[in-house]
Amino acid sequence: MYLLACEKTHEAIAIDPLDHALCLQAAKDKGWTIKTVANTHHHHDHIGGNGPVISATNAKLVAHVEAMDAIPNVDRGLNAGDELTCGELTLKIMDTPGHTMSHICLYYEGSDTEMPALFCGDTLFNAGVGRCDFGGEPSILHKTFEEQIFLLSDSVRIYPGHDYIENNLEFTLDREPDNQSAKKLRDKFKSGLDAESFISDIGLEREINVFFRLDEHQVRVGIADSLKIDVNSLDRQKTFICLRGLRDNW
Ligand SMILES: [Zn+2]
Repeated sequence: MYLLACEKTHEAIAIDPLDHALCLQAAKDKGWTIKTVANTHHHHDHIGGNGPVISATNAKLVAHVEAMDAIPNVDRGLNAGDELTCGELTLKIMDTPGHTMSHICLYYEGSDTEMPALFCGDTLFNAGVGRCDFGGEPSILHKTFEEQIFLLSDSVRIYPGHDYIENNLEFTLDREPDNQSAKKLRDKFKSGLDAESFISDIGLEREINVFFRLDEHQVRVGIADSLKIDVNSLDRQKTFICLRGLRDNW
């Protein structure tokens, strides 16, 4: 969960504030007023804190327009390209199905002093992607990545809905043992780098996230080997889907 505020007006957006007590306390400590609660998708571990945050702050609830049946009391349904504003802070809505069929990411384009950022829920994780077996579909998730996520600039920082980076790096290395960037980062965590405060960006993901590395020879040969299929049958989509399936059972 994340709390974002406009520096001028001190108005804030709470994204998936599951731990409502912590979220409300953080806003209080900072002197911020929560005006909006935004849900990336309808899973309970993302919407479960909505009620207490809204009753304490009177914030408006926003979510994907097609998630309005699954999430109680949404005030505004969001579509691709919509803008969510909070004081002088603007987030652009991306429609990113795959983990669930209605899922949004919230994109901040950056400023003179701040790099862009993506609040990506369970679509993209550090060194991984969301699973698709709770109402999603891997081929749709692949399409979301090809058409949107892979096109983001290297400088976009990512803020996912969960932190699985250490385990995900192990999966990348299981699939691509020669990946030096993944190895280096895994070793940093092993020698004490704090995973929770680590912030990845798209440039780093292109190196360490095996789901970004669909054309890599070692990745494809490994899949063919594990699944006893012809390596030549693997295109980018099939590679992505096979990786998702292997990760599910890893
Ligand atoms: Zn989820």
